[in-house]
Amino acid sequence: MADRDDVDVVVVGAGVSGLAAADRLVRAGRSVVVHEAVDRIGGRLLTGRSATGHPIDLGATWFWPGEERVAALVRELGLPVHPQHLAGDAVYHERGGPVRLDGNPIDVPSVRFSTGAAALAEGLAGRLPAGTIRLADPVLAVDTAVAGSAETTVVTSASGDVEAGHVVLALPPAVAVDRIEFRPGLPERLAGLAATTPVWMGSVAKVVALYDRPFWRDRGLAGSAISHLGPLGEIHDMSGPAGEPAALFGFARLRAATDPVPDRSAIEAQLGLLFGPGAPPPSEVLVVDWRQELGSLTTGQVASTAYRLFGHARYHEPAIDGRLHWASTETVTVSPGHIEGALAGGERAAAAILDRLAARGRAAPRPAPPAGAGTDTGDRPIPVAPPRRT
Ligand SMILES: Cc1cc2nc3c(=O)[nH]c(=O)nc-3n(C[C@H](O)[C@H](O)[C@H](O)COP(=O)(O)OP(=O)(O)OC[C@H]3O[C@@H](n4cnc5c(N)ncnc54)[C@H](O)[C@@H]3O)c2cc1C
Repeated sequence: MADRDDVDVVVVGAGVSGLAAADRLVRAGRSVVVHEAVDRIGGRLLTGRSATGHPIDLGATWFWPGEERVAALVRELGLPVHPQHLAGDAVYHERGGPVRLDGNPIDVPSVRFSTGAAALAEGLAGRLPAGTIRLADPVLAVDTAVAGSAETTVVTSASGDVEAGHVVLALPPAVAVDRIEFRPGLPERLAGLAATTPVWMGSVAKVVALYDRPFWRDRGLAGSAISHLGPLGEIHDMSGPAGEPAALFGFARLRAATDPVPDRSAIEAQLGLLFGPGAPPPSEVLVVDWRQELGSLTTGQVASTAYRLFGHARYHEPAIDGRLHWASTETVTVSPGHIEGALAGGERAAAAILDRLAARGRAAPRPAPPAGAGTDTGDRPIPVAPPRRT
């Protein structure tokens, strides 16, 4: 057999679910390799920078009271947080024009990550041994029929093969079955479930508009709006602590793979209409098209609304002789779609693997593998993708 790395677990995806799983497994003394398709960690946690150098969340923004896994991780990592700005009136936008509401029924109390949500991923990655994460090294195939063994799986990535006892699929199930060749194929009902489970936030562009000051607050507005006319369907204040930097963000719904993202003039016109008159133009507008960021989703994936499949029972049961484990936020019943859900998914996958390894009484934990062909997170800064500026 070719000379290849041999580890307890390969994790596919360095989003927060994969990193949480890897963290637990490594802390339990198991050897782990994390393969990440792109050249940054974090997945749907993506923190860019404004032209003035402030962290700007271009993926997840908040966590909510009661999401104890996120709260605990924030405490462990010592991350600064601040409350979502709620004060002021919201705006409701329909055919007759914008209507100022009395108060703000749109926003709910939530918590923001003051240094950006990606700090959660960076914190988890920083606890892993150097060389664990292989960036820009997508998994291409998972072979569970190697020499008829019920214990060994060969994971083929762009840089070569890794042999593992267990594989954690820490990416949206629809992306996993679209991008990874399973040999032999997954059981038909599981493959069908995965292909039809929606990719959470896979049909939106997140738009962040930065301003010199939060001018809407001066007018008694909260910065929140619901619009039936668009291009942004919902809008919230996304300013930093104490309003610095001043920012509004919104989601534009994209219904097909080819729908264009809204252009800057349309965004400026809508924000001016909702929060004007005389609203200043934004100093900067950042746009991330999550269809592309999640790997050029197809129209079928973008349009799927079968959210009832989130947390389906089949995702809770390890597949293929207990060797294949799901972890992404789509596969859980606890806060599915949220960061909290992704942490719960990673936790579940790690626990199932540790139970099985303990039950089999496998050999004593092996040391972490040497740094692989891909990039590691060693002691270098972890890259985040630059946002598109309109
Ligand atoms: C715009 C936006 C706003 C959001 N707002 C919030 C919010 O305010 N609060 C909240 O709680 N949640 C929010 N979410 C959801 C939250 O970000 C996700 O629930 C969470 O980050 C998902 O983590 P995950 O690990 O399950 O998946 P992901 O973060 O998607 O990680 C999957 C990883 O797998 C990688 N990958 C894909 N294919 C391969 C392959 N073949 N080989 C190796 N790696 C691969 C991907 O590149 C990615 O890094 C938001 C998401 C978006 C996009």
